[in-house]
Amino acid sequence: MTDEAKKTNRPEGTDALPDRTDGGSRPDGEDTSPGEAKPGGNVAKAGTAEVEPPAEEKEGGPEIPEVLPLLPVRDIVIFPYMTLPLFVGREGSVAAVDEALARDRFIFLATQKDPSVEDPKEEDLFRTGTVAMIMRMLKLPDGRLKILIQGVVKGKIVEVIEAKPAVRVRIDRIVEPPMKEGSLEVEALMRASRERIEKILSLKNMPVEILMVTENINNPGVLADLVASNLRLKIEEAQSVLEEEDPVARLTLVNNLLARELQLAEMQAKIQNQAKEEMSKSQREYFLREQMKAIKQELGDIDGKSEEVDDLKGKIEAVGMPEEVRKEAEKQLRRLEGMHPDSAESSVVRTYLDWMVELPWKKETKDNIRIAKAKEILDEDHHDLEKVKERILEYLSVRKLKDKMKGPILCFVGPPGVGKTSLGKSIARAMGRKFIRMSLGGIRDEAEIRGHRRTYVGALPGRVIQGMKQAGTRNPVFMLDEIDKVGADFRGDPSAALLEVLDPEQNFAFSDNYLNVPFDLSKVLFIATANIIDPVPPALKDRMEIIPLSGYTDVDKLAIARKYLLPRQQEENGIRQGKITMGDKTILAIVHEYTREAGLRNLEREIGQVCRKVARKIAEGEKGPFSITPKGLAKYLGAPRHLPETEGEVDEVGVATGLAWTPTGGDILFVEVSLVDGKGSVMITGYLGEVMKESAQAAITYVRSRAARLGLPRNFHAKHDIHIHVPSGGIPKDGPSAGITIAAALVSSLTGIPVRRDVAMTGEITLRGRVLPIGGLKEKALAALRAGINQVIAPGRNGKDLEEIPRHEARQVRFTLVNNMDEVLPIVLKRDPFRAGKGMPKGGRGKTASGKTPGKPKRAPGAKRTR
Ligand code: ADP
Repeated sequence: MTDEAKKTNRPEGTDALPDRTDGGSRPDGEDTSPGEAKPGGNVAKAGTAEVEPPAEEKEGGPEIPEVLPLLPVRDIVIFPYMTLPLFVGREGSVAAVDEALARDRFIFLATQKDPSVEDPKEEDLFRTGTVAMIMRMLKLPDGRLKILIQGVVKGKIVEVIEAKPAVRVRIDRIVEPPMKEGSLEVEALMRASRERIEKILSLKNMPVEILMVTENINNPGVLADLVASNLRLKIEEAQSVLEEEDPVARLTLVNNLLARELQLAEMQAKIQNQAKEEMSKSQREYFLREQMKAIKQELGDIDGKSEEVDDLKGKIEAVGMPEEVRKEAEKQLRRLEGMHPDSAESSVVRTYLDWMVELPWKKETKDNIRIAKAKEILDEDHHDLEKVKERILEYLSVRKLKDKMKGPILCFVGPPGVGKTSLGKSIARAMGRKFIRMSLGGIRDEAEIRGHRRTYVGALPGRVIQGMKQAGTRNPVFMLDEIDKVGADFRGDPSAALLEVLDPEQNFAFSDNYLNVPFDLSKVLFIATANIIDPVPPALKDRMEIIPLSGYTDVDKLAIARKYLLPRQQEENGIRQGKITMGDKTILAIVHEYTREAGLRNLEREIGQVCRKVARKIAEGEKGPFSITPKGLAKYLGAPRHLPETEGEVDEVGVATGLAWTPTGGDILFVEVSLVDGKGSVMITGYLGEVMKESAQAAITYVRSRAARLGLPRNFHAKHDIHIHVPSGGIPKDGPSAGITIAAALVSSLTGIPVRRDVAMTGEITLRGRVLPIGGLKEKALAALRAGINQVIAPGRNGKDLEEIPRHEARQVRFTLVNNMDEVLPIVLKRDPFRAGKGMPKGGRGKTASGKTPGKPKRAPGAKRTR
């Protein structure tokens, strides 16, 4: 029998419980025969026999004939009270079923010793079998029969009667010996069996109804049969149970089998549990792993991040941070590891670490200072500037001798475009260092220098650290541009932070708010630049060595344009050297008509403009060479932008020409005075500083003191209001040096004598009319020349400054040195007021000096100083 058939299964059709009483209920019965349900086929395909506790047996059992049709079965041993379906296919078997049904439905079931025998003979069968009643019969379409049988009583074959079509057997009914009532041994045996059954059932997770059935059986033989029929016993075992006629012995046998079955069941359960455990363990792991993956993904903890972290880790090691800094970086790295990569926080940390690993903590260039070479480089890059170059070479020499020089910081002071930046670059080149430049112009917030704390949204390091990152080495030449333009306000004082940057005692551990770790700036060579030195806070000034650079004269400009600017611009615009020729006159025309500056920025720009135009022509196919003439300039640069200031202007009453010193060089300025009827009030306008206003008051007092000599009524000031104005009103002006200019305009206005426009003056005035010295005479003189003015009145005590003025320029200007205002008036007024002046003139007096204000170009903001 196959395993399948062996087991107590629960086949279709078993529902109908046999009415095991004799007559049998249904009129269709049959028999089994092998070989159908399955290959190897056998009988009881279907399975489980459900066993019903027998009804109280009648005395002697049912009437069973002695001769019965024989149904050989394979793979199963049928017990009394067992109900099960059988498939019947063999010819002889079908005939036996037919015969049984035709008679009283009883049939004898005997098990084949060898299930594979197709046509079993007497010796192929176990002699002990079971008489069964066919409860139902169903003819299947293929000719086989399906019968439902119920075991009735055991029997033993006495004789086999070979007959056709069905084999018959004569049997002996096996009658069990009567049971000893109430035997403890039997009771114990039965309980033991029941317990084992219960355990087996629970181990196998089977329904416990069977238990209820066994509970109701108190006959050990019946219990033994019932259990045996439901156990999956081997044929031989089952047969031996069937053959045991003593009920107690039979139950003992079955009990032993139960014990083995229980062991098997336990082992099976254990194996199953283990397997389940194994499975659930690995399932659990798998599940957890999957969950972890999901969590990681949810947190964005994807593979790319660990790559990033590794990358940063490598960089932190490579960049050579100091111990303390490295610890901080590693701490932040660990924080980053634990964060979602898309979170705002992690991008803050990432940016921070990016900064940290990109700063030059260790990397530096090797200084290679050879003074001769440095001189060569400076000369190569710069025309003239001898004094400056000397000073730079001295500085480099000291630097070379003394590694840790704590000396002053060089500060180049001068108007824009005079070569401050390019000197810085040359120094870097001469030392073999990197060069960076940081503009401080307009910085009012300390955080610009020192950075914002990382807690601020979008915080960044300050400009110093930004510059260091840009430099990529920790010993660059670092130019702090426009240090005079740093201002302080409520956001803190940037110059305090600058002090820390520049102080050699402190800057080895410069603290930037963003980095929050010290950065060593001590190897940096700082150079500062400024347009004027006055606004630089004294504390900063103390640390710096001021190297002044003044504006260039036309001669210098010409030379520089020839030697540097034109070749450089040609090169930058891809034009072969020599393609463009520019005569001196052309260059000077550019200087005078298209630029007005102390430095060279605009000149270089204009030359660049010419080069670009030429480049276009070349690109369009023109061959050149291109010779640029002063007349042809307009084609390249448009109409001239500047005419000499005095050109086209007439001498006017009440308008005097002064000279101012500005951060961008020198400049000329005009002072206008107007008298109107009134009560002697004074109005001073034109964005003038306190010093300039005071010098205006001084000028008025001087004029009052000279009223008699000038022929003015004694109380002239009481009847008029005086308005003094200095255009351009939008540019702040200050300083005392306009004193004599204001006085001249005032006298002109009071006397009605026009002032000469072609004379420019500068000088401070005292109440008594003394003329005091001023500063910046060189710049002022050059400014006058640029404006086309050839006569300059200056304080006598500035005589020594005339030497500073380059000879070429000095020759073009006539200087008149004066010590008293009384000397000035006869020169600047068209007529000598002291001689001509008899009273206030009839006409023109009290009128605005001039309708026209001179067309002076507005320059870069910054006070014009008349010092
Ligand atoms: P600054 O920094 O003082 O404003 P720059 O250094 O930018 O001025 O100079 C402006 C231009 O003029 C640069 O192209 C520079 O090379 C050039 N320049 C200035 N002075 C000289 C000089 N003495 N010799 C040669 N070129 C000069």
